[in-house]
Amino acid sequence: MEESVIARAQELREQIRRHDYYYYVLNAPRISDAEYDRLLRELEELEQQHPGLVTPDSPTQRVGGLPQPEFLTVEHRVPMLSLSNAFSIGEISAFDQRVHRFLGMKADEVLDYVCELKIDGLAMSLTYRDGSLLIGATRGDGQKGEDVTLNVRTIRSIPLHLLDSDIPSLVEVRGEVYMSHIAFEQLNRQREEMGEASFANPRNAAAGSVRQLDPRITAGRSLDFFSYALGTVEGGYSPASQWEILNKLREWGFPVNPNITLCHGIKEAIAFCESWQERRSGLGYDIDGVVIKVDDLQLQEHLGYVSRSPRWALAYKFPAIEETTEVADILVQVGRTGALTPVAYLKPVQIGGVTVSRATLHNEDEIRRKDIRIGDRVVVRRAGDVIPEVVSAIKEARNGDERPFVMPDKCPVCNADVFRAEGEAVSRCTGIACPAQLKERIAHFASKDAMDIEGMGSAIVEQLVDNGLVKDPADIYHLTQNDLLTLERMGKKSASNLLAAIEKSRHTALDRLIYALGIRMVGRRNAEILAEYFGDLEKLRQASVEELEQVPDIGPRRAESVHLFFRQSETDTVLDKLKEYGVSWEAPAAPAEEGRLEGKSFVFTGTISISRSQAELMVKAAGGKVSSSVSRNTDYVVAGEDPGSKYEKALQLGVTVLTEDEFRRLLEG
Ligand SMILES: [Zn+2]
Repeated sequence: MEESVIARAQELREQIRRHDYYYYVLNAPRISDAEYDRLLRELEELEQQHPGLVTPDSPTQRVGGLPQPEFLTVEHRVPMLSLSNAFSIGEISAFDQRVHRFLGMKADEVLDYVCELKIDGLAMSLTYRDGSLLIGATRGDGQKGEDVTLNVRTIRSIPLHLLDSDIPSLVEVRGEVYMSHIAFEQLNRQREEMGEASFANPRNAAAGSVRQLDPRITAGRSLDFFSYALGTVEGGYSPASQWEILNKLREWGFPVNPNITLCHGIKEAIAFCESWQERRSGLGYDIDGVVIKVDDLQLQEHLGYVSRSPRWALAYKFPAIEETTEVADILVQVGRTGALTPVAYLKPVQIGGVTVSRATLHNEDEIRRKDIRIGDRVVVRRAGDVIPEVVSAIKEARNGDERPFVMPDKCPVCNADVFRAEGEAVSRCTGIACPAQLKERIAHFASKDAMDIEGMGSAIVEQLVDNGLVKDPADIYHLTQNDLLTLERMGKKSASNLLAAIEKSRHTALDRLIYALGIRMVGRRNAEILAEYFGDLEKLRQASVEELEQVPDIGPRRAESVHLFFRQSETDTVLDKLKEYGVSWEAPAAPAEEGRLEGKSFVFTGTISISRSQAELMVKAAGGKVSSSVSRNTDYVVAGEDPGSKYEKALQLGVTVLTEDEFRRLLEG
């Protein structure tokens, strides 16, 4: 390989690492995204042309691994010990006195301590050989952890290769993987929408994300990292203090929490603890205390260890963010996507200076798993800005009057039936006009693949619903110019444009209408299949679960969802109103008599008025088959507008060419 190629790859890697550091660690990018992409693309191209160039620590190799069958066990070179805890200011002073005594120092001699926020995440050990990330391992039991290297590599703020000089031949960096409140809430929202159980708190979410056997899943989670200590160091670096280590970690490209301080004497350390106890909720991630370490590493060595904890460090835990109280009731909230979330109504209790009277219980399975009942005494936790949650029930305190929670089978907001698909954690309201989810439903109804009402954006939908102009999807077709003019920033011109767009959507296709109804688990493709199979909305409305299960690709869960949706009286009302307001939908061309086209092969070219997949279904329903290329064995070529080379080929080979109309007539017989 040419020297110049190797040198260029090297140069690109160094540049990209530096920019990753500016972007992910310092949050201060120095080049535009486009420039960064150019660098990365150039490196990718070089590596593609010269596969021998690829190294595991190349910035192109963040997600490379395949799912693993299980995690391997890693033995820590230096055990990852736990710190002794202090729960009061008095215990911090006692710690300082112990250190003085052990070191034979006079009580008034001042010691330097480093104070660091205690991040509530998952402790991680990262081993680098010659500057390249070799192993990422969880703490495990302190002696042995799990090898999660492939997952750790996907965390963008963790360097795959250390920056700067002074790099030891082997170094183990320790820190905490965590998830910010924003990332946590976003992840739970996504999971709720997918019908998956939400995570109880950011720490569980971080731990669950790191311990994924498929690194691609980890890569999709927004995880972050703060480093705070060294384990083994071999060759090349011998620091004198913890403060120096923290600064070196920064130089090597690791994120170090900005809220660290070097305290002269324990009084300053105590002031630091007290100040963060007050301010912690504004951090955007969870901390559960402050770690106080003797700064001087030589003194640390003198102090050594007692049982399984270092004598030179202390974890000050903030006062209980957990309290006990009573569950007065469990009620259900309906979210904007129709998800039903049980909420515990509590006898008000002070937790960390805030009165808490409600706490989330996540979902039905979670309540059953924790066995939380109405009337129970429970432990409630509040962590940072995150919604308080019920941790557990105190079963010993039961007197027999407690009542188990039952998920209602009717929506508490609109009284429609509740649907919970087998295997999903979340129950959902099926009501098409449910006030709790109306905005989402209207926005979906008007969207491009549904009724395609141009200009009906979320801001308009918001106002239409808030002003009571639209109480169900059909109301859209009853709006007048005057109605629209009452909306903010709606001039005459935009009002008539919107009305024209609504008018245009009044005549639509059956599959679009079915999709627009927003039936749970029925996406565009399923809507097409249902429209094609039943050919008529009435038949679909009357179909039994068994009939629906017969439809290709529908399956039992979807069949149940569709069936339940059409059993709702609100669904009937809305469909009747749609008709009354002049909305009409065209059924797909009638399917041919079964077997009419038995054994005939079709090729499509050019654009026809129905979708290609719909046309294919029609041919298949009649017993024919569709192929992608024309040969002597092709029976028909259906040529739409702007036919391509297949049309020419058909003419050459003398294959029968049909127009769309001829094709439809052939199907109808
Ligand atoms: Zn509802």
